[in-house]
Amino acid sequence: MILVSCVQKVKNDNPLLNDFDTPFGVPPFDLIKASHFKPAYLKAFEEQKAEIKAIINNPSEPDFNNTIKMLTYSGELLNKVGRVFGALNSANTNDSLQAINREIAPVSSRHRDDINLNDTLFRRVKSVYDKRDNLNLTGEEKKLLEDTYKDFVRSGAALPPESKEKLRKINEELSMLQVKFGQNLLAETNGFKLILDRKEDLSGLPEGVIEQAASMAKSLKMDGKWVFTLQVPSMTPFLQYSDNRDLREKLFTGYFMKGDNDNEYDNKSIIARIAKLRVERSKLLGYKSFADYALERNMAKTPEKVFEFLGQVWDAALPVAKAEAAAQQELINQEGGKFKLEPWDWWYYSEKIKKSKYDLDDEITRPYFRIDNVMEGMFYVANRLYGLNFTKRSDIPKYHPDVNTFEVTRDGKHVGILMIDNYPRPSKRGGAWCGTFRSQKRDLNGKMVYPVVTMVTNSTMPSAEKPSLLTAMEAETLFHEFGHALNNLLSNITYPGSSIPRDFVELPSQIMEHWVLEPEVLKVYAKHYQTGEVIPLEIVEKLDKASKFNMGFTTVEYLAASLLDMEYHALTEPVDLDIRDFENKAMDKYGLIKEIKPRYRSTYFNHIWGGGYSAGYYSYIWCEVLDSDAFQAFRETGDIFNPAVAARFEKEILSKGGSGDPLEMYVAFRGKEPGIDALLENRGLK
Ligand SMILES: [Zn+2]
Repeated sequence: MILVSCVQKVKNDNPLLNDFDTPFGVPPFDLIKASHFKPAYLKAFEEQKAEIKAIINNPSEPDFNNTIKMLTYSGELLNKVGRVFGALNSANTNDSLQAINREIAPVSSRHRDDINLNDTLFRRVKSVYDKRDNLNLTGEEKKLLEDTYKDFVRSGAALPPESKEKLRKINEELSMLQVKFGQNLLAETNGFKLILDRKEDLSGLPEGVIEQAASMAKSLKMDGKWVFTLQVPSMTPFLQYSDNRDLREKLFTGYFMKGDNDNEYDNKSIIARIAKLRVERSKLLGYKSFADYALERNMAKTPEKVFEFLGQVWDAALPVAKAEAAAQQELINQEGGKFKLEPWDWWYYSEKIKKSKYDLDDEITRPYFRIDNVMEGMFYVANRLYGLNFTKRSDIPKYHPDVNTFEVTRDGKHVGILMIDNYPRPSKRGGAWCGTFRSQKRDLNGKMVYPVVTMVTNSTMPSAEKPSLLTAMEAETLFHEFGHALNNLLSNITYPGSSIPRDFVELPSQIMEHWVLEPEVLKVYAKHYQTGEVIPLEIVEKLDKASKFNMGFTTVEYLAASLLDMEYHALTEPVDLDIRDFENKAMDKYGLIKEIKPRYRSTYFNHIWGGGYSAGYYSYIWCEVLDSDAFQAFRETGDIFNPAVAARFEKEILSKGGSGDPLEMYVAFRGKEPGIDALLENRGLK
């Protein structure tokens, strides 16, 4: 017998500090406890500090490899821990994780500033940057070098010491305020419930919606009652169908007053402070406003450009929304209602008009949009376009029983892992998003690192009687997030570190929405959940005809939120805002009609206060110019699955991530710059 001695790596009892010994290296969720995060973070900060020190102390002349590359690959552990923590804290949080978030956010902010504001490190980066044209770099390397240098400057590395000190304080306070905002919002969303115990209060509601509400009540130990929440899949059908106007008002008021109830979870003073600090910070860095700072690195470049673009679409959409409101008022009058249309009436009357005009409502299509079938549909599209295959795996750790995990392959080769987590719960924040537990890259030795991607939605839940049956809009949201997932899965870059600009990143997601209701795709996945019957052509035609219905409203409520975002972030002086007053004046300025509320009011606008869409909520419609035009590239060939166009989209856009200039990437795909026409046509606003 021969004894082979090998050096065994000492296993740590904190799983976050070990290599993930799981299929495909997904995080070992079954072993990770909340108590592991803080020590893992502290160790990760130490590790990156040591890595930075090694870069600074390197006696050789600074060059791309010993400075830019080493910096890009530093903080591997922090990245790993941060991604797991961030994903769990968004999708499956609890009191312990929230407490850790409050504690770690300011430490994390200090740690980042220790790197970004380090003089010696910045001098090394700058000396490489200054000779960038003589370094023989690849396009991706050059972009990384420029991004790294600009990131330092934009973080304040070139400022005098007293400004740096101010900046550190602002960053730290901002990091804590943003966490508080998100935690308040979750508490406010979970804090409101519409509890019904009389059958007559259910008047107008479809059977499936009632079953959902009964299931919800049961899960809250209120058997025999019906509960509606502020989660969109629960609230929207109530607003669409409930005949009881007072209850509609009660539920919708609960929604649009989130964070504005003058209680312990009120967000007004928090966002006033965030807005003010953002102006101060931007001015310290030499910008006129936060929007000037944020947009510099986007496609749009300047606030003026964004205002101009939003204004163009606003002018086209507002008259359409006004006409929609007038039609609803007319219906109210006809029915003998002696009241003026209010925001909580909109869904109800628009649904009625849709029904009479197109003989179509969500309840007719829901049976064909069983969630498993919709996912089959999106996998089918990805297969036709990019040759990807999705295989369900049950041997992979998951962070919640609702998660479904798929291995993605192409030509039999591993591409990545995709986790999908679809249903609302009190531990999950609202909305839908896509992220990664591990992003694609090549490691320091050039070896491929495969992505582990997660997409999260808040879709209609199964009830005791029925599986999850989606609205067409919810199916579209799944396709949207799946588009982000494809962007991550098909990424083929070397270096991590260059991020995709906010106003470009919605192109890969939104283009996927174009396939969801295509007849060719519907006939593959839209099958009745009981009979298996394919969605009848007649319904497909109705869906197509109704696709531009209510677009005035949809566009205006979205644009109102985008303009609100821009108004906050175009402020050029750090003033103390009265939030209600500011919001009202901003909306009056554009002539928003009072029957429509902005899609997000200030106090629950997580995109701009907590998420990464500050001065960036406009990105969705900005990208719609791109995705409408890009989908035309498929249409023009007469084949929505045209392999050559798909290959070009993957090569020039999806695979490149943030490694190129967005407009150049787009033109390389399309051969020309996009115009606004396809967007207006897409929305029926021409
Ligand atoms: Zn998106």
